[in-house]
Amino acid sequence: MADDPHLLYDRISDEVRARADRLWATALALHADPETAFEEHRAARLLTGELEASGFQVDRGVAGMPTAFTARAGGGPGRCVALLLEYDALPGLGHACGHNLIAAAGLGAALALSAALGEGAGTVLAVGTPAEESGGGKVLEANAGVFGGVDAALMFHPGTRDWSYAPLTAHAQLRIGFHGRAAHPTGNPTEGIDALAALIQLFNTLAVLERRLPSGSHAQGIVTEGGRATNIVPEYAEGLFGLRGITTAAREELAALLEQAARGVAEATGTTVRIERAGVDYDHFLGNDVLAQRFARHIGGCGIALHEPEAGVYLGSSDIGNVSTLVPAIHPFVAITGPDASDHTPEFAAAAAAPGAREVMLAAATALACTAADILTSDDVAEQAWSFHRARAAADR
Ligand SMILES: [Zn+2]
Ligand SMILES: [Zn+2]
Repeated sequence: MADDPHLLYDRISDEVRARADRLWATALALHADPETAFEEHRAARLLTGELEASGFQVDRGVAGMPTAFTARAGGGPGRCVALLLEYDALPGLGHACGHNLIAAAGLGAALALSAALGEGAGTVLAVGTPAEESGGGKVLEANAGVFGGVDAALMFHPGTRDWSYAPLTAHAQLRIGFHGRAAHPTGNPTEGIDALAALIQLFNTLAVLERRLPSGSHAQGIVTEGGRATNIVPEYAEGLFGLRGITTAAREELAALLEQAARGVAEATGTTVRIERAGVDYDHFLGNDVLAQRFARHIGGCGIALHEPEAGVYLGSSDIGNVSTLVPAIHPFVAITGPDASDHTPEFAAAAAAPGAREVMLAAATALACTAADILTSDDVAEQAWSFHRARAAADR
């Protein structure tokens, strides 16, 4: 490192503190004006305005999403660290996942880091990532190459626990449609081929298959089309199946199993079947221990102790999973409620605007910026993070 990192950490901490009121006002403004997936126009305007006012070079509408953006400060031949800002809310529940705090902390980290770093210390990239709850903005950004040339992607998520690492699972949706033949169920029943019966048969087959799935793998199906009238043998029936696995490979094994079952059912019932992916696939999260430990140490300095989740605990999925397959990434949880609460509830939404959340957001901003500084200023940290990432990604294949 060029100079004593503790001087840089102190500078970062001062820069966050100098912006504390403004960052908290940003978090509250987002909270008071929730916008759902892909509709976050005012949030994107607010955040890009703050970044632009501090000299960041803003690109709007990245990866084909009007509410996505990147904002860049610094540059030159050095490394590049991405700070990820989520800002979508939940329909009817507002900021019940606390993404207003993710945005404010990422913003604070980006502004404080770029103010504290000297010239030629690398690039600070704030990435506005829409639609985490539905649609997967980070997946579209990852596919569009937004993370090319990035050395790490950092974010925190408010939660009910203090966890250095997020055990996020892999998820995908399959739409399965059976085509049969319409007929009058009394007048000419032998002419009919009941597509709904085929779909129901697939649900029954799935119930049998589920008994032998590996732990953590499961499929939740719903009927999205099941016929139009009781005096017509259904000619078309369709189901939507949400597939989950602890790893992306496990999810794909489950998808293959379900596809095979659907084709078997079609053959047995004389229907034809069409299978397609619905929406974007979320990969499981590959945590980067090197950077997670750095973040934990930095936020420990702010008085928040993180620990690893208990073995065997798994959560839902997030689009950070797809980013984590490309570059070293962190997604720690920092509690804004007690452990008995749950996110996606009105209580969690209230906590995301309560005084305790202000302290968590500021601590997270400081720790994110210090972790980013480690990557930008230390060859050792950057190399260790990348070699951990490569080993973990290879073991995962
Ligand atoms: Zn959520
Ligand atoms: Zn969330």
